[in-house]
Amino acid sequence: MENQFNEGQTLVSPSLLMEYWYCPRFIYFMEVLKIRQYEEKRLKVLIGREVHEKKALQPEYLRKKLGVVKQERNIYLSAPGLGICGIVDEILYFADGSMASLDYKFAFNKYKFKTQFLQNVLYAMLIESHYHVPVGACYIVYTREKNEPVRYAITAKAKEAVMASIKEVNRIVREGFYPGATPDRKKCGDCTYRRVCV
Ligand code: SF4
Repeated sequence: MENQFNEGQTLVSPSLLMEYWYCPRFIYFMEVLKIRQYEEKRLKVLIGREVHEKKALQPEYLRKKLGVVKQERNIYLSAPGLGICGIVDEILYFADGSMASLDYKFAFNKYKFKTQFLQNVLYAMLIESHYHVPVGACYIVYTREKNEPVRYAITAKAKEAVMASIKEVNRIVREGFYPGATPDRKKCGDCTYRRVCV
């Protein structure tokens, strides 16, 4: 994939992308106008993190279930060439030399969101860039259901979708571009920014 960004720039994180995917205008209000969101939302994130700590899968389970030979937790990676950074919950190493991300979501499998997968596509891109190993899959554990990993293939199309989103986030942050509203207007009802959002 062609490098598009330069050293010294602000790198796009998974949390920023998740905000963008929820509604592009969040990025404008947060990063351009610097208006903070309500703290309740942050609290939900913190609760999610606490669940991660409690429900992390054990090395022995991953060895037997997936053939994992080594795992690392909470690894910060950056790829300035792609304009991205992030902390990967877990990085899995396999005997054939391949690698994958493992992510924990406080959610039910049947109510999973595409954006949770796309977040892991970003992790795959970070791992590939840092370790120079192709990453063909990621795993997500939906902790409100069975505590077992679900495998997803990392496709070129998904990577392109993530890169397109990163480009749009940068356009908003760097150029002050005011993006369109989310098409899902149900989200506007309890939105922090509904009073300032035109
Ligand atoms: S009010 Fe709706 S369109 Fe505006 S920022 Fe909130 S969710 Fe997005």
